Amino acid sequence: MDAFSRRGAIGAAAGGLLAAQAARAQGPAPAGTPNAPASDPRHRILGPQNEARQGQNPDLLTPPSTDHGTLPNLRFAYSDAHRRLESGGWTREITTRELPISTSMAGVNMRLNAGGARELHWHKEAEWAFMIAGKARITAVDERGRWFIDDVSAGDLWYFPPGIPHSIQGLQDDGCEFLLVFDNGAFSEDSTFMLTDWVKHVPRSVLAKNFGLPESAFENLPKEHLYIFDAPMPAAMQAEIPRSVEKVPVGFSHRMTAQEPAASGRGGNVRITDSSHFPASKTIAAALVELEPGGLRELHWHPNGDEWQYYLEGEGRMGVVGPEEHARTFDYRAGDVGYVPYAMGHYIENTGSGPLRFLEIFKSDHYADISLNQWAAVTPQALVQAHLRLPDGALARLPRDKEPVKPA
Ligand code: MN
Ligand code: MN
Repeated sequence: MDAFSRRGAIGAAAGGLLAAQAARAQGPAPAGTPNAPASDPRHRILGPQNEARQGQNPDLLTPPSTDHGTLPNLRFAYSDAHRRLESGGWTREITTRELPISTSMAGVNMRLNAGGARELHWHKEAEWAFMIAGKARITAVDERGRWFIDDVSAGDLWYFPPGIPHSIQGLQDDGCEFLLVFDNGAFSEDSTFMLTDWVKHVPRSVLAKNFGLPESAFENLPKEHLYIFDAPMPAAMQAEIPRSVEKVPVGFSHRMTAQEPAASGRGGNVRITDSSHFPASKTIAAALVELEPGGLRELHWHPNGDEWQYYLEGEGRMGVVGPEEHARTFDYRAGDVGYVPYAMGHYIENTGSGPLRFLEIFKSDHYADISLNQWAAVTPQALVQAHLRLPDGALARLPRDKEPVKPA
């Protein structure tokens, strides 16, 4: 460290930073946090600090003493993602470029204004969606020319199989915002097959022959693709249904939040939607978890793949344990994406003062988790006791039925 940066660091440490650290140390620690005191003089930071970021990352700044070794980064915030601004709305994505561990799935957060349309397109990946806010019109056509059209609102899902052409359009009064999840972490929303890209690169003579129209019919094709653009507001849904054509036999939409929770208790509740509830959704399964303040999504893992998470509301932290004693804790808040590599044990705790709501998403046709509580409850008790050495009678009180959420 040269004289200049040393003087700067000491000056800063002697001023506001020390005061801020002292203030943090006096504040209440989140319930059950085994973190060391932030004021421990051995762990003072003398150099530059981003107070706002550190305040959002208490478990990175001062990790719980149970953390050990290294894990890949398991969080990326949409607030740190580039936003592509278009005339009809905007989009931002978290792929393996942003979150390298997320090889199984990628996510796109998109807003369409009233009338704003995501142009007619298709892609090689399946597309699963959760409506965050507002209303949207979605359309698709399958390989036999059968139509699909629906109006969706907050809490609804859709699923478009790979290669199936589709569109999304924001409706009155304020369009919509939604989360898209693709079953390939390397997916990019910037590299889909778009109608206007295609016709732009086909000779007019071929377009004329294909559509049975004169070449002059194609004089007004857009010079650039439209992607997300202002389009006329659609008519009432009934008026847009094609006559004398069959509807797709398995619908591409589902009302997730209209489902009764699969599990609920004093700590919160869990809704599960997989292909047994939503038959079209053959490669994506999901759970919507709501935790009360202090509530815990219990210690568990998933036997069928990686978990991609999206935090809808609140603040929480996740502890993940891999093999060879690699254990790390990450903090999350609304708008963040989390990730759990295949089969790693984990828990999620609500560390905020309000509800914590998040989606668990899997590249699978079915939802599955293994509960540590249940495993211990239904394994020969003397064997489990030889491992855990709990007080007499404690094992007998563990629930044999799965309780995915626990109260504070
Ligand atoms: Mn799409
Ligand atoms: Mn999980």
